[in-house]
Amino acid sequence: MSKRDRKRELPPVPEALPASAVDAHTHLDACGAKTPDEVHAIVERAQAAGVGRVVTVADDIASAQWAVEASTWDDRVFAAVALHPTRTKDFDDADREVLEQLVEHPRVVAVGETGLDYYWDYSPPEPQQEAFRWHIDLAKRVGKPLMIHDREAHQDILRILAEEGAPETVVFHCFSGDAEFAQDCVDAGYVLSFAGTATFRNAKALREAAQLVPLEQFVVETDAPFLTPHPFRGHPNEPYCVNYTLRELAELRGMTLEELVVATTATAERVFRLDQA
Ligand SMILES: [Zn+2]
Ligand SMILES: [Zn+2]
Repeated sequence: MSKRDRKRELPPVPEALPASAVDAHTHLDACGAKTPDEVHAIVERAQAAGVGRVVTVADDIASAQWAVEASTWDDRVFAAVALHPTRTKDFDDADREVLEQLVEHPRVVAVGETGLDYYWDYSPPEPQQEAFRWHIDLAKRVGKPLMIHDREAHQDILRILAEEGAPETVVFHCFSGDAEFAQDCVDAGYVLSFAGTATFRNAKALREAAQLVPLEQFVVETDAPFLTPHPFRGHPNEPYCVNYTLRELAELRGMTLEELVVATTATAERVFRLDQA
C-alpha cells in the first residue's frame, strides 16, 4: 500500500472512554453516510469508542434536510441546521422558509453552523453578515442554541452578536482563538467547542485557550470528516475520533479522562437539551 493510500485510511478505533461522550459537531453526510445503515455504522463505531451521541450539522439546504432525516433514523443522532457562511452568496427567501420549518423539528438541537468565514473566498462579507444576523434572530425566535462558525472573523462575530443581542446559548464550534479571545467569549457566557485542532502540536495559542475555559462552557467535537486529531492528522475523521481529542485535552488540563468526559457530556446535554430532543 502506498503512503498516499494509507493517509486515506481511518485511524484505529481507540479503547472505549470511561464514560459516554458527545461529539458536539460533526457532518455525517460529509463522512460519506447517505442511508440509515451507513449512519448506524458510523454511530456504532462511535459507540464502540465510548462516543454515545453526535450532533450532525448541515452546511446547506439539502444537507439540512438530510440531517433532520438522519436524526430520526437513530436516537444517538441529533441535528443542527443553517446555511454555512461560505454558501450565503445566494441566500434567498425560499432557503429561509425551508430552514424555518426544519429548525422546529424536535431533533434539531441548534441553529448552525452560521457565522463568518473570512478565510475562504466563496461569499463576500456582506451576505455573510446579513445571513449571520438572520440566523441569530432565528435562534432567538425558536429558543435554540446558536452554533457559530468563526474563521478569521473573531471581532466581527463578537460585534454582530452584541449588536443583535446574543441568543441565550451561543456555541463557538471548532474554537480557533487564543487565550485572550477565549476569555472574552467565556466572560460573555458563550460555550467553546474544541476540535482536533486543539491536539495539534503547533497550536500553542489554542492549547492555552483550551486550558482556561470553565468546564460548564466546554464541549468537544470532531468536525468530521475534517481536522482529524493528532497523531492522525491528514487521515479522515469520524465521530469516534473525539475519543483521541478528549484524551489529549484531559492531559492538557491536568484532569483524569473520566472527569473530562463526564464534564463535557454534562455541558453538551445542558447546552443542547439532549434529553428533551
Ligand atoms: Zn465550521
Ligand atoms: Zn462543521
